[in-house]
Amino acid sequence: MNTQQIVLTSRPVGLPTLDNFRFENIELPDLQNGEVLLDGLYYSVDPYMRGRMNDAKSYVPPFQIDQPISGTVLAKVVKSKSDDLKPGDFISGNLPWRVQTIAPSKGLSKIDASLAPLIYHLDVLGMTGLTAYFGLMEIGKPKSGETVVISGAAGAVGLVVGQIAKIQGCRVVGIAGSDEKIQLLKDKYGFDDAINYRTATNLKMAISTSCPNGVDIYYDNVGGEISDAVISNINFHARIPLCGQISLYNSTEKPVGPRLQPMLLTRSVLMQGFIVSNFKSQFPDAISHLAKWVKEGKITSAQTIVHGFNELPTALLGLFKGANIGKMIVEA
Ligand code: NDP
Repeated sequence: MNTQQIVLTSRPVGLPTLDNFRFENIELPDLQNGEVLLDGLYYSVDPYMRGRMNDAKSYVPPFQIDQPISGTVLAKVVKSKSDDLKPGDFISGNLPWRVQTIAPSKGLSKIDASLAPLIYHLDVLGMTGLTAYFGLMEIGKPKSGETVVISGAAGAVGLVVGQIAKIQGCRVVGIAGSDEKIQLLKDKYGFDDAINYRTATNLKMAISTSCPNGVDIYYDNVGGEISDAVISNINFHARIPLCGQISLYNSTEKPVGPRLQPMLLTRSVLMQGFIVSNFKSQFPDAISHLAKWVKEGKITSAQTIVHGFNELPTALLGLFKGANIGKMIVEA
């Protein structure tokens, strides 16, 4: 059987381009015992994939040249030689960017379609929702009445962080990159205030005005100068879940910024980096919390859906231009 896949052709320097990807047709092997044939339905594109395009040691191995890009995919089982899955089942798994693929059933997660619409399993009930939950609840440890500032606030992680922080009774301020996003954060997602970092003339002052009682939790999705401005407003005993640094992922030079340690030291601030998989053993519990909040209407999920398998590279690059509101997903 013939299918199409997308491979990495070259490693980007700075911002990736479409030239870093190649489409090719391949022949799939015969299905073996224990394997399933899958139709890709929804493909997740995520900022961490940029790191995998580099030849650098990290918490996930780099993509290999001339090998398919891989990521989280929601797929439908079309043929099965496994007792675990039958045709018609939906799964999520780390799979190559292929229209159809064959995979061992071990390592795939069968989706409980009764919990929420299928696509939510790539969003609020998937990796980004879990990242929001653990970063905020386990590191941020929000208390009612505290002020939470979130960078990358209109993205997949940020939107969920903001809504969980509201459930915890916090004042929530988001930072994002367009007026449309700022309006949505306030009108649709319940943020108390939001700041456009692209148009703010003095971001440090804008944060200070939005947070008259200072910042108790800074959920950092972007790093760089935005984080410098937030941290200069940080309170004593504040917590900083260090989730992402997307503003630096395409840097070609080593970024140099203010030295933050004196501020963290003298204000007794906790800054802690984390990878969502650190909390793997607690995923089922977190998913039931998140699913309950979704069912109660306390968390509204948001996705930007791009149509067509061929659009996968464009959708990935769009993350670095702010092209998404909520989770960026490609529907095959
Ligand atoms: P998003 O859905 O937030 O998409 C990326 C967004 O980042 C864009 O829409 C854009 O929004 C913003 N952005 C892009 N470039 C810049 C820049 N130079 N400066 C400021 N903002 C920028 O992605 P996710 O929610 O999936 O991920 C958010 C962060 O969390 C990322 O840094 C990611 O790597 C990290 N992450 C970490 C995990 C972990 O386990 N620690 C797991 C999942 C994600 P705008 O219009 O506002 O600029």
